[in-house]
Amino acid sequence: MSALGESFFRPRDLGEACARVADLVTRGVPHHVIAGGTDLVVESHLRPPSTVAPPATTLVDVSRVPELVEFAVRGDTIRLGGGVTFLTVRRAPALAPLRVLVEAGKDVGAIQIQARGTLAGNVVTASPAGDGVAALMALEAVVGLRSVRGERAVPLRDYYQGYKKTVRAADELVAWLDVRVPAADAFQSWRKVGTRLAQAISKVALAAVVERDGETIRRARFGMASVAPTTSPLAHVERFLEGRAARGLDLAGLDAAVDADVSPIDDVRSTAEYRRHVARALVREVARGLAPK
Ligand SMILES: Cc1cc2nc3c(=O)[nH]c(=O)nc-3n(C[C@H](O)[C@H](O)[C@H](O)COP(=O)(O)OP(=O)(O)OC[C@H]3O[C@@H](n4cnc5c(N)ncnc54)[C@H](O)[C@@H]3O)c2cc1C
Repeated sequence: MSALGESFFRPRDLGEACARVADLVTRGVPHHVIAGGTDLVVESHLRPPSTVAPPATTLVDVSRVPELVEFAVRGDTIRLGGGVTFLTVRRAPALAPLRVLVEAGKDVGAIQIQARGTLAGNVVTASPAGDGVAALMALEAVVGLRSVRGERAVPLRDYYQGYKKTVRAADELVAWLDVRVPAADAFQSWRKVGTRLAQAISKVALAAVVERDGETIRRARFGMASVAPTTSPLAHVERFLEGRAARGLDLAGLDAAVDADVSPIDDVRSTAEYRRHVARALVREVARGLAPK
């Protein structure tokens, strides 16, 4: 472990990182794990000014932990280290089959943010507008949580429990994300609707991965951002589509399934009504893309 200051640690490997975090948790020392810092640093500057100095915060920098920045292809699963950046996802030929994640990665901030921002950071921040999270959900990601107590695997769909609430314990690091490689002929799509093309948080975003047997939809997985307290799968839409013919879908039924899955709100970026409208339109767009020409 290299200590670059009293309150900055850069562990050499995942075991050291877990041990450091466990020690800080046990002693009740205020601390943060930091990877790219693109959420954490912004958040720390957004705090309201105070006459009282903030408590010193210890940082555990995991950006150079080798196990976190690697990825491995294992048959029809790819294990992505939590520290893999969006730029790596965009550039690594071995990750090209994860088209929906590659496309989502291109829409995260701009190139500078993609070069620093990590998949684990996106997941842990738990923003309702997490672009990476939406794509990872469509790829059926499983989150690998590691601590000195051991390792457990949690489907990303079960990871969020409410606004900014997750199942991750304070001493757990996101070590990896396992994603299912879609069939080569799977339909994969990513659509982000926002105020601008770059550096914009979405009003609504949709990631879709759909596999078909001929004209029949075999498997449909979605992740939608900015329409609920957490980035979420679309369970009703998935059930509605699976087993149906892609041609001639009942679009009113599809809209009703979308309505059952989303609970948008009015905020500075958009209205609930507009978000609901766009959510339906994006899912219909996927349905159109599935139908044979
Ligand atoms: C200008 C700008 C534009 C942005 N645009 C977008 C966008 O379009 N779409 C989008 O989804 N996001 C966007 N973001 C948010 C951010 O870039 C992403 O969420 C990014 O993935 C965060 O990763 P990071 O490594 O920088 O996280 P950090 O800031 O380092 O950490 C974020 C959180 O994750 C925790 N953490 C990090 N790694 C681990 C780990 N391995 N285990 C446990 N906890 C960990 C940290 O403790 C912290 O709580 C933007 C941010 C900025 C500043």
